[in-house]
Formats: sequence, C-alpha cells, structure tokens
Amino acid sequence: MSARPLPQLTGLSAEFYGFCKRHELRFQRCAACATWRHVPRERCAACGAAEFRWEPSSGRGRVYTWIVANRSMHPAFASDPPQVPVVVEMDEGVRLVTQVVDCPPEELAIGLPVEVVYDDVTADVTLPKFRRRA
Ligand SMILES: [Zn+2]
Repeated sequence: MSARPLPQLTGLSAEFYGFCKRHELRFQRCAACATWRHVPRERCAACGAAEFRWEPSSGRGRVYTWIVANRSMHPAFASDPPQVPVVVEMDEGVRLVTQVVDCPPEELAIGLPVEVVYDDVTADVTLPKFRRRA
C-alpha cells in the first residue's frame, strides 16, 4: 500500500482510472460536437451536452509546461525531492498533469515529444505517466 495520496476512484474518475488499469488511455469525447475533454466531467464545456464516449487516445503528446518543486508539500514525498509535475498536451488537445519518467528536469523542454507509459502504483491504481519519444 502506497503512503502517497492516490486518486479517489469514484464517479467518472473511477472510469478514467479503470481504463488506465488496463493500460488504456482514454478521454471523454462529446457525442454532440466531438470535443475532447479532461479532467472527467459531466458536461461538455464547448456545447453543454451530457452525452459522451470514452475514446482511445493516441497516447502521444508534448510537454506544455512544468515546475521543479524543490521542497515537498506532502510528507509522503519528502524523501525524494525534487518533484517535477509536468503538464502534457495530448495530440487530442486535452492536457493532463503527470510526470515524465527517466528525464531529469534540465532536459525537459516545451514541445518535447512524449508518449504514455503506465505506472501500476497499487493493485487498484495505475497512473498514466510519460517518456520521451523520437
Ligand atoms: Zn460538445
């Protein structure tokens, strides 16, 4: 059992992480106007429709931005600073907060091409993370 905070597996988030557990990255896509959305939510921000499908992502995106947090804000992360949360913009246009594994902060760059990898952190929770791609 991880001592680190994990996503709450409820509602639409449980559906999102259920796909991640199967090593599938899917995002909601509006059935009315085809707009992708993330984080999971009930209605489309573009047209307001409630109907959607979970569509497979390409798994590919680019680094949009990141920060280097040299001081941990949670005791579970105190032993391994710095934490480097990265915002990845997927080819589908949605963005997610994640990590780029095996990439020191000084090698991150805006626009760096990345692809999804899956980190099975517990039996129930798999986090989508990213690695550099050519
Ligand atoms: Zn829509």
